[in-house]
Amino acid sequence: RNRRAALATLAALALTLSACGKDSESSPKGGTIGIAMPTRASERWLTDGKSIVTDLKAKGYQAELVYGDDDPATQVSQIESLIKQGVDTLIIAAIDNTSLNDVLQQAADAEIPVISYDRLILGTGNVDYYVSFDNEQVGRLQAYYIIDKLGLEDGEGPFNIELFAGSGDDNNTAYFFDGAMHLLQPYLDSKQLVVRSGQTDLKKVTTLRWDGATAGKRMNGILAESYGTARVDAVLSPYDGISLGILSALKSDGYGSDGKPLPVITGQDAELASVKSIIAGEQSQTVYKDIRELAAVASDMADDVLNDKTPRINNRRAYDNGVKAVPAYLLQPINVDKSNYENVLVAGGYYTAAELR
Ligand code: BGC
Repeated sequence: RNRRAALATLAALALTLSACGKDSESSPKGGTIGIAMPTRASERWLTDGKSIVTDLKAKGYQAELVYGDDDPATQVSQIESLIKQGVDTLIIAAIDNTSLNDVLQQAADAEIPVISYDRLILGTGNVDYYVSFDNEQVGRLQAYYIIDKLGLEDGEGPFNIELFAGSGDDNNTAYFFDGAMHLLQPYLDSKQLVVRSGQTDLKKVTTLRWDGATAGKRMNGILAESYGTARVDAVLSPYDGISLGILSALKSDGYGSDGKPLPVITGQDAELASVKSIIAGEQSQTVYKDIRELAAVASDMADDVLNDKTPRINNRRAYDNGVKAVPAYLLQPINVDKSNYENVLVAGGYYTAAELR
């Protein structure tokens, strides 16, 4: 009987030891994650970088953060050097979604998993997971806002609208634009909305690298060529930096002063300058995406991948990148304007009241 008791004790000890082994295996702290972000020119991406680094460090990882300054070639060489440094995982927000195929092959050869961050990387099988927001919903929120403020559902109109989209090389651009146009198209068909410039095709309305000044120039040209004494009533703008560029073109044309109100103008990212503009009654709306949550999901994904666990996925259909259906986790964007910015942004801890003053 003694022998049996001794054996049982030994077996229990072995179980405990093997559980301990598993525990330490499941968190191989000290790995390094390479993070390639697109630009420092827009505040949101600074928040992304900072939040991911903080989250990864809290999980015991090292983080190498690089910014590609909106130049696809720079981003490729930055990722190449992260691979050479031997990072354990890559988190990438692409500048040009099709320029990374070769460098991602190098990552695959070195067995480095890749998480496509916010913008889906296209045309390669070497992407393991995708984390983003529901990008069509972003466009829908912008369109709903315009429909609501102009009273289109009540049959109001006709109103003049101009359309702007993001960078043509960003996979999100078409999702935002299509999400919005799906809702706006019936009003274009019924002529409650009129695009005086005639520029309604996505290819005609993109804004290379999401540049606000480029969008401002396009707005200037449209006002000069298509407006005369007519007035712009609404602008579909996909991103805060673009909205501010358009607003300054409108203001230099006399909008915002007596008798010539600024149009309803949308945005995205709840960047500080745009939230201030909303408070001042200039930009009308923005789509807030809690970057802290996006960063947290990406960090969890990296942690899971490095521990041979399957990351949490929440979308019903994986995103097709042309070569592979990439399993994805999508977060929900939120509509923000003057009426709810305090509840959402200040009470939610994204900005302090002092920052918005
Ligand atoms: C992001 C947007 C951002 C835009 C410009 C898109 O890929 O999803 O949040 O406004 O890039 O930086």
